Amino acid sequence: MTREASPPVVVVGAGPTGTTIATLLAQYGIRCLLLDRWAAVYPQPRAVHLDDEIYRIVARLGVAGEFAAISRPAEGLRLLDPAMRVLAEFRRDTALSINGFPQANMFDQPDLEALLRHNLKRYPCVELRGNVEVTDVAEQHDGRINVTYVDRTDDSTHVVDTDYLLGCDGANSVVRARIGSRMHDMNFNQRWLVIDAATDADLGQWDGVHQVCDPVRAGTYMRIGPSRYRWEFRLLPGESADDFRTIQTLRPLIAPWTSNVDDEDIELIRVTEYTFRARIADRWRRGNIFLLGDAAHLTPPFIGQGLGAGLRDAMNLAWKLAGVIAGELPPNALDSYEQERKPHARQMIRLALAVGLAMTAGGDFGNLARRLLVTRMHFIPGMRNKIVGSRTPALRRSAFVGSSHVPRRLAGTLCPNAVCADGHRLDDVLGNGFSVITALPITAAQRSTLDARGVATHLAAPGSELAEWLRRGHVSAAVVRPDRTVMYAARDVQKIYALLPNFKCDRRVRSHA
Ligand SMILES: Cc1cc2nc3c(=O)[nH]c(=O)nc-3n(C[C@H](O)[C@H](O)[C@H](O)COP(=O)(O)OP(=O)(O)OC[C@H]3O[C@@H](n4cnc5c(N)ncnc54)[C@H](O)[C@@H]3O)c2cc1C
Repeated sequence: MTREASPPVVVVGAGPTGTTIATLLAQYGIRCLLLDRWAAVYPQPRAVHLDDEIYRIVARLGVAGEFAAISRPAEGLRLLDPAMRVLAEFRRDTALSINGFPQANMFDQPDLEALLRHNLKRYPCVELRGNVEVTDVAEQHDGRINVTYVDRTDDSTHVVDTDYLLGCDGANSVVRARIGSRMHDMNFNQRWLVIDAATDADLGQWDGVHQVCDPVRAGTYMRIGPSRYRWEFRLLPGESADDFRTIQTLRPLIAPWTSNVDDEDIELIRVTEYTFRARIADRWRRGNIFLLGDAAHLTPPFIGQGLGAGLRDAMNLAWKLAGVIAGELPPNALDSYEQERKPHARQMIRLALAVGLAMTAGGDFGNLARRLLVTRMHFIPGMRNKIVGSRTPALRRSAFVGSSHVPRRLAGTLCPNAVCADGHRLDDVLGNGFSVITALPITAAQRSTLDARGVATHLAAPGSELAEWLRRGHVSAAVVRPDRTVMYAARDVQKIYALLPNFKCDRRVRSHA
């Protein structure tokens, strides 16, 4: 057994969640070791959609342009009846949204993962070690953590000790098992057939996600690339993917979209079965061990938010961890990770379940669910913003969201990624620390408080998008966290300045760069 030098953070799993948090930590100059059982990106297609909030995180990683090259904006979501008549249509703007990106984006997960892994090479403080299987995780008396892994190339066993361990190791997480966390089942288990195909033929379809509501054979169709397509169909009892390995056996399912295309013009890339589940871990942390991504939550993919939830976790935790490691935030800052992320993840899973119910439920209940979804979605919590628009619910109150004596209207929501007077987007000018967006001029005394705490400022010009945003929120200024969530917003700016944390990680790294 080999004992190794200790980095402050070890990340188990180099899927989308693990590579994202490793990159974000590296941007703060935090060293970390990223371990994955595979030498290269897992090649199987899975996620195909991400929204404009997640695109903003992808941009933060520095790969917005590269992602644009491997993705295509989609026009939204249609619910169809079994005869392919439109029950409801939720349009998405393919132009740039308030977050600065198209609201719905189609892509192929291995392409995104390859991009994220390639991007890691820009950060020498991250070491990615593939072909290693993490077999054990143990906390020591002093709070440090021993991570045991087996090098699959020679079967040698290694132990590395670290201060913080991030379990980004997916649905069957070893880390989750080792911290005694259990998945709470939100009562959804359905077997679905997932088909990835390619054709150069023009299918002539509306360019968004088609969800067929059918208690017998619910299905989804979407175009994910110039010639790439994805279908998903609920499997009937007794059926398996083996019954659908050829175009001929798939024809009855995909005929509504492919009637004008010959068999030989469609290439099957993958036909497989997935069990879609809705689960959330009962605890996301023990000591300095944290769960992120599919290790902490699983959702059916009906609103395309599983991978996105992992990236939201990474964005939420990275700056808090960087601040604690730098000694600039108190250790209990880390409590807010689960407090904020768990309710959000649960709300998004419930939303996916509501769409799943409308697609699959039979009998009077199914008809009611469909009618509810189509006509009354404004009354279902979270529905209005997420299905009608692409905005997700505000984060719940925590040490870093809102407080009793300031309005909560904006707190917990993302600030707009507005276009500034110089033509740049706000995210590109704020840096990775805290910032204050204010409609009121900053006095010299306030300026020195802000500078002393490492806070960036942005003066919202009268009539600008940001000034309008503040006005609609009935406030004069807002404190924006490094993850672009509003921490506080108030009319009285003095109150805001009194609440600013001391967080200089960003500046320190930039001054070293
Ligand atoms: C059919 C389907 C469609 C989907 N569609 C969408 C969609 O449209 N939009 C969306 O947002 N999401 C979608 N998802 C969900 C999305 O694919 C997952 O949420 C996402 O992959 C989770 O990322 P992760 O990094 O948390 O976990 P994973 O992708 O599972 O990555 C975990 C990593 O950990 C590694 N690992 C695991 N155990 C160990 C160990 N013991 N030692 C070392 N390494 C280990 C694995 O090799 C892997 O690289 C879909 C999923 C499926 C199946």
